Amino acid sequence: MEKKQKATKRLESAKELSKVVGEYYLECVQAKQKGKPVGWMPPMNGAIEIFYAMDLQPVFPENWSPVCAAFGLTPSNFEVSEGMGYSRDLCGYLRNIIGYVNGPIEDRNSPLGGLPEPDIILSPGGGCIPVMKIFHALERRFKEAKVLKLDLPQVAIEEIKPHHLRYAVSEVQRLIGFLERETGRKLDYDRLKEAVELSDKACALWDEIMTYRQTIPTPFSAAEMGIMFVMVTRQGTQIAVDFLEKVLNEIRQKAKMGSGVIEDEQIRLFWDNIPLWYNMGIFNYFEKMNGVVVAETYSAAWSLRLDAKNPIEALALKSLKSYSLVSCVSIVKREEMVLKACRDYAIDGVILHQNKSCVPITLGQMDIKRKLEEELGIPSVVINADHMDERNFSVAQFQTRADAFLEMLKERKQIARPQ
Ligand code: SF4
Repeated sequence: MEKKQKATKRLESAKELSKVVGEYYLECVQAKQKGKPVGWMPPMNGAIEIFYAMDLQPVFPENWSPVCAAFGLTPSNFEVSEGMGYSRDLCGYLRNIIGYVNGPIEDRNSPLGGLPEPDIILSPGGGCIPVMKIFHALERRFKEAKVLKLDLPQVAIEEIKPHHLRYAVSEVQRLIGFLERETGRKLDYDRLKEAVELSDKACALWDEIMTYRQTIPTPFSAAEMGIMFVMVTRQGTQIAVDFLEKVLNEIRQKAKMGSGVIEDEQIRLFWDNIPLWYNMGIFNYFEKMNGVVVAETYSAAWSLRLDAKNPIEALALKSLKSYSLVSCVSIVKREEMVLKACRDYAIDGVILHQNKSCVPITLGQMDIKRKLEEELGIPSVVINADHMDERNFSVAQFQTRADAFLEMLKERKQIARPQ
């Protein structure tokens, strides 16, 4: 196994993803050339629908990091940020984007044309500390950009109360006022409703796709998780809906025919934490021992519904919940979510990716490990790695642990199987 490896994609519809990715980044570069205001923002909140409804260009620096990892640009970006004094212990998204904006951003020969510089920066006052710090650094780097500092209560989803929602609604309204003032464009509320409706459709399709993964054998594995690109960058558009419909149709068909990702699926695995973006091929590794990663923590972020009849409130709720579903969730809730997924997806074993550069999602993994054993009798293995920095990933150590874990799971299943 190589340290950097692309995933083997088996879904025909998912193979179209590179086209969708390329078109999005081309649109970003062209927006700048045409004078359309470009706004940089964190992902997983209600700003994207407002941007598309106002014909503004949303750009997600956090999403650019997996693209850099896939194209092998992260080592040079890390070199820049580490040269500026950013520690190797910090989040890989942070080190990558800070390196990129202070390094090769002006190189138009970058893969996919690179990112256009921001006219607007939405600087979050919620989420994890690194995500807030990324935007502070962007504010310093792009001094000409108009900055709106947004605030959100840092509250676990099970604790959201009406007053939190009222506050989030007022922040969404403040965002709209700021965009109208700074761009001179008026928000058309009918267009916003349409955008929210499209987001809701995309979320419903997403949920249906994820539910089909409960089928045995599963028609869709974590190796195809790149499809989440449309949930990050294209929510609020028909593009996301059309793409996900294609994926769903193909998966539905496969499930009907009993056609799995591999011929003889024996072990169903759950992946906790962010994938290794520079090595999505890791998900195919388990296949040689008949193992398939059928579910993962990350996909939960898009499992939301939005009420298009009340678009502002829907976007406020989305902003409160979406990010929290993955990275700002209490340990109790995280345990609950992982255990539920293990039951729903008939999981045999869990891979706990102990992610060196993402503390918020790694926190609590030992408690999850214990609960899995005690409550469901499901074994787990810890893999030490990093979602962005390949220097923190040892292929040899991974292979030793993964092989032993799968051997053990296979033995257990054989013992449990009636003679
Ligand atoms: S949640 Fe983790 S990966 Fe995402 S920005 Fe925060 S520390 Fe980085």
